[in-house]
Amino acid sequence: MKPDDINSLIRILQSSHNTVVVTGAGISTEAGIPDFRGKDGIYTKMGGEDKVMALINIDAFRKTPERFYDFHWQRFSYPPIEPSKAHKVLAKMEEDDLIKGIVTQNIDGLHQKAGGKNVVPIHGNSNEYVCTSCNKIHEREYAITFKPGVPACAVCGSILKPNVVLFGESINNYSEAAGLIDHAECLLVIGTSLTVYPLAGLVQDFSAGARNLVIINKGPTQLDHVALLKVEVDDGNTLGDILDMTYQGLTGPSSVTA
Ligand SMILES: [Zn+2]
Repeated sequence: MKPDDINSLIRILQSSHNTVVVTGAGISTEAGIPDFRGKDGIYTKMGGEDKVMALINIDAFRKTPERFYDFHWQRFSYPPIEPSKAHKVLAKMEEDDLIKGIVTQNIDGLHQKAGGKNVVPIHGNSNEYVCTSCNKIHEREYAITFKPGVPACAVCGSILKPNVVLFGESINNYSEAAGLIDHAECLLVIGTSLTVYPLAGLVQDFSAGARNLVIINKGPTQLDHVALLKVEVDDGNTLGDILDMTYQGLTGPSSVTA
């Protein structure tokens, strides 16, 4: 992070009447969730994305739900995790009308848990299970009572699917995400290298419109070259610190304590 970055970020946000936030894995790693694609992530531990893809795709779910859930309960059962400081600051920013909404690639539900209201989880929410017949959403606490087996709908008895986008499925809420991004005056991209489509494409389209793109990330992203401001997260600070300093600059010294 450069010394002037926070001041620049504050000025950009002050001049925007419609700021939308896009978040990726980086914000959840600060809450203690390993990045799927990182070195401690499930893709790496399972021997690569192809191996995981063979197990958590929609065809495998339909053909052999027992096998799918056997893997699911082993690998995707996390103890409850609390939102990070960055999640909390963003929820506060939404409450204060400094941002209009959050489009997230993360499936952990932590933006919502932190108090975020207008959150669009384009890859779904892993705390939910949806009925494959009647579409009723069930909470994780209900579904997990079927572990290690296949959970069934409380209403119609059909099989439940984790309410996340599996390989081979299209993303959730695409038009909602596209609408939010399209109407934004400033787009604040946090904790993603913008390599996963179609979200990366939406951000790319936004940047082509000569509007203000700001990126806060550890390491380079695909769109650093078109960003009005890129804030590099280095060893001395976290996304949470950077957002908290920005929030204080916008509202006065009332730090969101983690
Ligand atoms: Zn049902």
